[in-house]
Amino acid sequence: MGKFNFVMTAIIYPWLQSYYERITAAFQQGYGHHALLFRAEQGIGADQLIHAVANWLMCQHSSPRPCGECHSCRLFAAGNHPDVYQLAPVENKDIGVDQVREINEKVSQRAQQNGNKAVYVQSAERLTESAANALLKTLEEPRPNTYFLLNADLSSPLMTTIYSRCQVWLINTPSEQQALNWLQLHNYSEISEIQTALRISYGRPLLALHCLEQGWLEKRREFFRAFWLFYTRRSPLELLPLFDKELILQQVDWLLAFLSDALKDKLNITSGWICRDLIRGIQQFNERQTVAGLLTATKIMQKVRSDLVQINAVNQELILLDGLTRLITEVFEH
Ligand SMILES: [Zn+2]
Repeated sequence: MGKFNFVMTAIIYPWLQSYYERITAAFQQGYGHHALLFRAEQGIGADQLIHAVANWLMCQHSSPRPCGECHSCRLFAAGNHPDVYQLAPVENKDIGVDQVREINEKVSQRAQQNGNKAVYVQSAERLTESAANALLKTLEEPRPNTYFLLNADLSSPLMTTIYSRCQVWLINTPSEQQALNWLQLHNYSEISEIQTALRISYGRPLLALHCLEQGWLEKRREFFRAFWLFYTRRSPLELLPLFDKELILQQVDWLLAFLSDALKDKLNITSGWICRDLIRGIQQFNERQTVAGLLTATKIMQKVRSDLVQINAVNQELILLDGLTRLITEVFEH
């Protein structure tokens, strides 16, 4: 609960610029909606777009951009605006009904700065059912000068009733070229490295940047070298130590992308490859694989992934060991 906890920055990522312009133009023309729902993939910066829209709503001057200088903008930039509220999961717990009631109570009062009020609902998909119902009541009875900005993960379900009360903005991942241009301005790696980072991040530029900055590409190369030993020696112990607690889901995703590309290679599909940098390894691996085997391998690794997400961390090694052993017995030696 509380205020926006990020610092004001005037930059809006280039792939979000047109959304920002359309949203603020709607308000300027008198068609602004009191509840905006942003649905976006993680890693494309939707938070920053919402932040910019909230700042614009709070600014006392009406111009295309927040002025950054009025009292309201200064309070906003400091994360101290008394009429800006944030609703978010606390300590990774779902957003509860009490949190929503507290916000409802606050927005029913007069704005302290005599301007607009804004409520940012972060991870709206994590509202409990009763919290969503409490919020719904508020959304159904719009108050003057009060705006709700909801952010919800694209892949998670959200109560349809909430959905129906909001103006929905689907935020797409940028084009590959736009993302590459931006990444090249922010990272000095070779273009082939940047392309790989972007592909294994499924086109999400902020995630790709993180990947480059954290040295994940080198880790991924080490991972696949170990994967090759695991494969040729039929020994899970070659790969198991390479799994890193912080990176584990990424690593499983790397493997899933590898298997998916291997399947594409078998089926002579040339588009949409993720691991273009590993093409020779994939072809060599494929000399002894069948389509059925690759499908089985994919299912095994998908099961590993969902178990890792659902089951507590203590069992991570066992889940991985089981999955890798099944790859050997059900795919490689089948
Ligand atoms: Zn201002």
